[in-house]
Amino acid sequence: MPVYNAPLDDSLFVLFDLLQIDGDQYGEIFADIDRETVTAIAGEFGKLMTDVVAPLNITGDKQGCSLSNGVVSTPDGFKAGFEALKAGGWTGLVCDPEYGGQGLPLAMGNILSEYLNSANMGFSMYYGLTMGAYAAIHTCASAELKAKYLPKMVACEWTGTMNLTEPHCGTDLGLIRTKAVDNKDGSFAISGTKIFISAGDHDLAENVIHLVLARSDDMPDGVKGLSLFLVPKINVEADGSLGTGNHVSVGSIEEKMGIHGNSTCVMNFDGSQGYLIGEKGNGLKNMFIMMNEARLGVGIQGLAISEVAFQNARAYALDRRQGKAATGQKDQGEAADRIIHHANIKSSLMSIRAFNEAARALVGEVSVLTDVIHKTTDEKVKSLATDRVNLLTPIVKGVMTDQGFDNAVVAQQIFGGHGYIQEHGMEQFVRDARIAMIYEGTNDIQALDLVSRKLPAKHGQTVMAYLQDIGGFIEANKANKQLADIVSALQQASEALQVALGYLMEHGQRNPDNAVAAAHDFMHLMGIVTFGHIWAKMALVAHEKLADDSKRHASEDFYKSKIYLANHYAAKHLPQAKALQVRLCAGAASVNAMPIELI
Ligand SMILES: Cc1cc2nc3c(=O)[nH]c(=O)nc-3n(C[C@H](O)[C@H](O)[C@H](O)COP(=O)(O)OP(=O)(O)OC[C@H]3O[C@@H](n4cnc5c(N)ncnc54)[C@H](O)[C@@H]3O)c2cc1C
Repeated sequence: MPVYNAPLDDSLFVLFDLLQIDGDQYGEIFADIDRETVTAIAGEFGKLMTDVVAPLNITGDKQGCSLSNGVVSTPDGFKAGFEALKAGGWTGLVCDPEYGGQGLPLAMGNILSEYLNSANMGFSMYYGLTMGAYAAIHTCASAELKAKYLPKMVACEWTGTMNLTEPHCGTDLGLIRTKAVDNKDGSFAISGTKIFISAGDHDLAENVIHLVLARSDDMPDGVKGLSLFLVPKINVEADGSLGTGNHVSVGSIEEKMGIHGNSTCVMNFDGSQGYLIGEKGNGLKNMFIMMNEARLGVGIQGLAISEVAFQNARAYALDRRQGKAATGQKDQGEAADRIIHHANIKSSLMSIRAFNEAARALVGEVSVLTDVIHKTTDEKVKSLATDRVNLLTPIVKGVMTDQGFDNAVVAQQIFGGHGYIQEHGMEQFVRDARIAMIYEGTNDIQALDLVSRKLPAKHGQTVMAYLQDIGGFIEANKANKQLADIVSALQQASEALQVALGYLMEHGQRNPDNAVAAAHDFMHLMGIVTFGHIWAKMALVAHEKLADDSKRHASEDFYKSKIYLANHYAAKHLPQAKALQVRLCAGAASVNAMPIELI
């Protein structure tokens, strides 16, 4: 069975050593959490993951969910696991205290989110989708709806869903056909079919609160005609008690590649009572308010699977003996060396770990900025933080989930044939990781969003400010001999990024196909530079800690590992930026040359 241990030391390093959330620049924003509280909370949660939630992962995969007489059942143990999550008060950690939450920062919540997804991604989504729906209701709904629904959702006594996708449309939501008819009594009758609805129905909670995108008759075609409705599975009476069923039914459970523990449902709404959230016609806009946070949540899934796959591959490579190291036998007296002695295996493990630690830092950075957006009273600070989060969101979602899947495959490869069979759980990680590249907007759509919306935003000022930050770091640390490798590799990669940006500005505008064909490569090129910048900053911190033991919060080896990994990232990953730039600058010429009939 796979092992999982929460990487608490690294979470602490990100928040307190790298991002210094206890520093003066954040004022009171993170006043509720210090190193001790995070250690206590995340440490306790990590234990729950190792002891209770991770052991349910294989059961969830093997049993999956089932539908019988309209009732969805989750795999054995999921109910008890969900009760443990609720009983510990974990579900309301980052929610508004007015509705029973604990009001802790997202930076704290997202540490736990990583641990939960590593332990059991299918299971985590019953909670994750509830938080997505909570955020939409909290941001856009009337005080009355909030008071009626949020306390139960914060406690996960009722869970939530997001109903966007229909059989004929997923990306192009302007085509949505689900109807909303005004009942003229404050409610609407919602009718239509939604597909692929995560946590659509199940036996973990007594009610499911669906957020449904639908179009009322008086509204135009396209996305501007869509409104967002709250549709409970079971009607809720004025006193908050549960009433009659609301004509919401499960058509079927999708048979799918991974996350079998999560019920992905076809949902039928048949004149179900729904309540408008926000303004009519603002449905998509309201959904998009939480888009950055939702995409951050999916990006975390990429990291989470990569982390648990790494932990298991590392343990295997330290145990499995095959062949002898190229430079002569290392494990004297044994029939063969442990496979970690082979440079290819060691390099693979270091690459996955280098991704995990940079990705964790990126999640920390974006979470901290999101907390700043929520809590600062300084409009300029808020605007700058919003710009940066907008710019980085496609990297978090697109790059982290592409790479998370790739890493799951590399980790599986380290097991040889044993990775392909079920016993070690590695093939499940590969299957589970795959969906994160598809939902919450496919990764190609993330790349297009980056190239067509985020780069031109504010006449390019947002991306220029980002490049200036990286350039400033390079300039400030050029003479630092300890950082020579990483800074020089970062400089070359960021030059490649600037060439790519120049290409897009010139050729993307001239022929938009050039931008569309280049988008995916650009997103990954920017991801490599982003991670390189993070690694350079982490190496700087690690050197400072090694130079002064009074500043250390972990072992010397912990900080030394950061430096080894930064140098590995400089040698093996930052150079890929140039190759991506060259490919990207080839534009759409070869693509456009071939008629579609000949493909
Ligand atoms: C397991 C699972 C869980 C899901 N959970 C939910 C959920 O909880 N709620 C929900 O509403 N949905 C959910 N989805 C749906 C998911 O969000 C969609 O599948 C996804 O957004 C893509 O939509 P689609 O499948 O219709 O693909 P399409 O939109 O048909 O896209 C097909 C391909 O074309 C590309 N493409 C589309 N448009 C463009 C364009 N303009 N330019 C360039 N390329 C383009 C896409 O990138 C993709 O590769 C889930 C899906 C799965 C499989």
